[in-house]
Amino acid sequence: LLTGLAASPSAADVLPYLDPSLPVADRVTDLLGRMTPDDKTGQLVQGERATAGPADVTSLRLGSVLSGGGSAPTPNTPAAWADMYDSYQRAALATPLKIPMLYGIDAVHGNNNVAGATIFPHNVGLGATRDPALVQRVGQITAQEVTAAGQDWTFAPCVCVARDDRWGRTYESFGETPELVSSMTTIVTGLQDEGVLATAKHYLGDGGTTNGVDQGDTQLTEAQLRAIHLPPFRAAVERGAGSIMISFNSVGGQKMTANRHLIIDVLKGELGFTGFTVSDWAAVDQLDGRPGFTAAEVADAVNAGLDMLMVPEDVSRFVGYLRAGVQSGQIPMSRVDDANRRILTKKFELGLFEHPYADRSGIAQIGSAEHRAVARQAVRESQVLLKNDGILPLAPSAKIFVAGKSADDLGNQSGGWTMSWQGASGATISGTSILAGLRAAASSVTYSRDGSGIDGSYTAAIAVVGETPYAEGKGDRSTLPGLDADDRAVLSRLRAAGVPVITVLVSGRPLDVAADLPGWNALLAAWLPGSEGAGVADVLLGAYAPTGKLPVTWPQSAGQEPINDGDGKTPLFPYGHGLTFTTNDPDPTPSTSTTPSPSPSTSPSPVPAGCRVAYSTSDWSTGFTGTVGVTNTGATAIPSWKLTWTWPAAQTVTQSWSARVTQSGATVTAVGETWNAGLAPGATLSFGFNATHSGANPRPAAFALNGTPCTT
Ligand code: BGC
Repeated sequence: LLTGLAASPSAADVLPYLDPSLPVADRVTDLLGRMTPDDKTGQLVQGERATAGPADVTSLRLGSVLSGGGSAPTPNTPAAWADMYDSYQRAALATPLKIPMLYGIDAVHGNNNVAGATIFPHNVGLGATRDPALVQRVGQITAQEVTAAGQDWTFAPCVCVARDDRWGRTYESFGETPELVSSMTTIVTGLQDEGVLATAKHYLGDGGTTNGVDQGDTQLTEAQLRAIHLPPFRAAVERGAGSIMISFNSVGGQKMTANRHLIIDVLKGELGFTGFTVSDWAAVDQLDGRPGFTAAEVADAVNAGLDMLMVPEDVSRFVGYLRAGVQSGQIPMSRVDDANRRILTKKFELGLFEHPYADRSGIAQIGSAEHRAVARQAVRESQVLLKNDGILPLAPSAKIFVAGKSADDLGNQSGGWTMSWQGASGATISGTSILAGLRAAASSVTYSRDGSGIDGSYTAAIAVVGETPYAEGKGDRSTLPGLDADDRAVLSRLRAAGVPVITVLVSGRPLDVAADLPGWNALLAAWLPGSEGAGVADVLLGAYAPTGKLPVTWPQSAGQEPINDGDGKTPLFPYGHGLTFTTNDPDPTPSTSTTPSPSPSTSPSPVPAGCRVAYSTSDWSTGFTGTVGVTNTGATAIPSWKLTWTWPAAQTVTQSWSARVTQSGATVTAVGETWNAGLAPGATLSFGFNATHSGANPRPAAFALNGTPCTT
């Protein structure tokens, strides 16, 4: 038998690194031993399709290619993407050692580069779902739509912790707390389960720059960085994220691209990251503050722990600097070997040596009904109901008037990173607009973009307003914006008709709307829902009772930025806020029970003129006792009400409220209590509480009654 095996050409002639039965580590070692210095330096470089063609991949031995910011083949079809992928892969396999390349894209909310793809809510909306299992499923479907078009690597997820809503990338963040963002790294598992290499980005401190300036300086101590910005990367590493993108920003004035301590000591050392790091777009060029890259900058980045460099221009000169740096000893060969080991390990693990070409079998599933159904569920769960005086949900038989620039605009509802880097208004993708979703589910919908033509005969008017698409620094604002003049004109037309007004905000962040809020009967934060606008209609028409919770704190005014959970400021709506109501048709199947079941209304009633909270405590080092008195300052009774409040810092709290509610053991950031006892105009209900806590400055703050902030 042994003789027979040895005689077989498949066993004897196959080089060890090409033998899939051997352990990956052995294959990597074998391959590394056969690589020339030029093979090795080429592996570290990623060209861009617009400037590096297949011939460059062969001649420069490039390890990877990307499509940056939606740079797509023409026509932009899945088959054209797969063909393009194959042409690059053929070029890579034409090198002496036949090392396959990796092709990277920004599939950051679905495969948002390919025509016909399912577009999911941007991360800010996914954070609002608080549903890690759903987000994992989103990752799986995204990966299926990526691999079907040939690509094997996505620069997602952004695990940034967005700490200042003025930042143009706030919507790429799952939220403002490390706990929330970490919990959403299930998307890494989803992506990689389906064969796509994930990238946790941008390491480190991208969401913590001063004044929310994109690519700015993060002026935090290492302890603060570790507490706020590092945990999601730890979580992503634990989930096996294959790559990590090093951020454009600086930390304490030093560019992350050359931060050896945070990359080599902390990420690769302490966190035990075994995948490879990739630079951001031409990030090496920024190291010396002058345009373009120099040999010294290239060496600095590689020596600081960058394994792969994203080089959108002049890739041949870049490779030349790398080769020269290795030759002169400025870049140690051991560093280059380490980077190769990391990159090649991922290529073997992905199975690229065995199956290098695009598998087109999934093309029919791109944008399929099954995939869109998951996206619609994500949209439903991402909606955060911020205010509701009882107008929502609307009955499907209601006479509805719809207006606003984003009611019928797939581009607006998808935001940036949709078919192009910046995204665009208009019918840029295939999907269902919010208006189309409403029309499909309600019997009487009249639409007028600017709100003209409305009269008093309608049950309610829905204004879909907010931001238009942007990405990265182009979305930075020096002041948190409110509604623009056109949005205001629409809303004043609707209000003038005297019908209840429901505002749906399509935006990548909270907007400055505190002054407008009293004029609205309901406010729904829709974020950037993507291709399935029907999910927004599902909430408005009561097919789905909202479950979304704010992933970010919503400020009272623009001047409060930066505002975050636990910082002691009083927001308009606290982190975690989100109302619900009873669905219109919770159980469509006829009941067989003869006992009529009571259907209690969980919909909080209006607070016509707000509320006032008087509050006193006496505290001691580990606990406090106090009383809270809530006064109805409106003119009408409030039959059922819910008081919510936040704790200024996440902490473990054990509290009891006049024996009505107890809560122990959990880490509490925001809690609430509902009473069905009526509260007459001018009446005050007082209750006492005891609490023990673990954390400094534990007094509860930011009280709201039925979603309306109380004055204190
Ligand atoms: C962005 C990254 C992105 C890269 C490639 C950069 O401008 O900061 O998030 O992955 O471009 O498109």
